[in-house]
Order: sequence, then C-alpha cells, then structure tokens
Amino acid sequence: MIRIAATELAQVVAAAEAAYPQECCGLLSGRSQGAGAAREITVTAVYPSPNLAPEPRRNFEIDPALRLRLQRELRDRGDHVVGLYHSHPDGRAQPSPTDLDRAWETDLAWLITAVHGGSAILTAAHVLDVAAQVTFRHVPLVTADWQAPASRAARPEDGVSFD
Ligand SMILES: [Zn+2]
Repeated sequence: MIRIAATELAQVVAAAEAAYPQECCGLLSGRSQGAGAAREITVTAVYPSPNLAPEPRRNFEIDPALRLRLQRELRDRGDHVVGLYHSHPDGRAQPSPTDLDRAWETDLAWLITAVHGGSAILTAAHVLDVAAQVTFRHVPLVTADWQAPASRAARPEDGVSFD
C-alpha cells in the first residue's frame, strides 16, 4: 500500500497536466516499513525533475543529479527516496513495456498518472515484483489524510432489512 497526502497527490497530478502532451517525472521521498506484499510506503514529499528523455512525449528520464542531491539531503531527516512518478499522455495509469524494461530498483513505488487531452483522469501505484519473472504489481494508493464522512442512520434504500 502507498500512502500519500492529498497535497502531494495534487502536486503529482498538476505536474502531469502541466507537462501534457509530454511526460512529467519526479521522485518521491518518505518512509517504508514491512516487506513483500505487506510493505507500506508513506510518501512525504514530491520532487519534480526535468524530463531528460530524448523523446519526452513517449518516455521519461529523471535527472540523476536530483537523485544524488536528494540522497544527501534526506539522509539527515531519516527519509529516503521511496518512489518515482511519471505520466502517460493519452495512455493508461499502468506501467508500459518500456517502463518494465527500464525498472531495476525493486523497492521503489511507481506512481503513474494517465492524462487525456490535458486532464488527469487516474493516478495508480505499482511496485516491481521480482521472483522467477520480473513484473509490476498494482498496489492500493491511499490518500493518507482522507476520511470517510461520519456514519448516518441506515435507510430502507440502503438495502438493509428492518424486519
Ligand atoms: Zn511509463
């Protein structure tokens, strides 16, 4: 599961829309605990990167200098780079075959925002699963500071039986 506050998620979505029709990209810092399928990642900050890919409409490349700078800065705070984000202009919010080819770090969360005609329609999270075969696995993306409204009394239209 990936937790992210609404403010940080909004940053990712805004970057995806601003970069359209090109792909946006950047890094996510935070903390992670647990291992395997039980691993939980909490994103605490979003760091936009210039997209250095030669074909930014079809690909992304995060500035390696940003990664190096973050690794130095975050060490003092106890946070680390927990993931990356990029967008798929007029595509799906899931990793492409190119993404899989270029993914090598198994402990990073991948946030992908699908942008259609300049409007973000979905952001989804994935992690790399490494077993006999390497593939991406979709994981729940939870907005950390969202809460369901307080409960109300059940009504007949809820389908609850009052007999
Ligand atoms: Zn991609």
